[in-house]
Amino acid sequence: MKLDHLGIAVKSIDEAVKFYQQALGLSVAGTETVQDQKVRVAMLPIGESRLELLEATSSDSPIAKFIDKRGPGIHHICIEVEDIYAKLDELKAAGVDLIDSKPRIGAGGHLIAFVHPKSSSGVLIELVQKEAEH
Ligand code: ZN
Repeated sequence: MKLDHLGIAVKSIDEAVKFYQQALGLSVAGTETVQDQKVRVAMLPIGESRLELLEATSSDSPIAKFIDKRGPGIHHICIEVEDIYAKLDELKAAGVDLIDSKPRIGAGGHLIAFVHPKSSSGVLIELVQKEAEH
């Protein structure tokens, strides 16, 4: 397992990216819209990991709701796992609260699933499997 990315909720990617590009010197590897989650995503590689800037594409997007409640900031951390189906089964067996009991397709076309923050000390955790063979 490794840390794949940190997800950061922002009001505007175009605004937020100025800090990450100009002040920190990172660059945007790509942007995409994930319709299913009503977000636009910009990925900025940092070492082996990435920062994922998340902007709502609609007022009922989970990111819009998050920003309304808590303001912009760290939204989730994403951990890469070898086998997301096996990991979800393991977590279920351990009594962990899952938002997604089955994987769905996230950014980059990868299989993802979210773990409920009440099982992880208040941190929303995204699991991702990079080689989707299922
Ligand atoms: Zn993410």
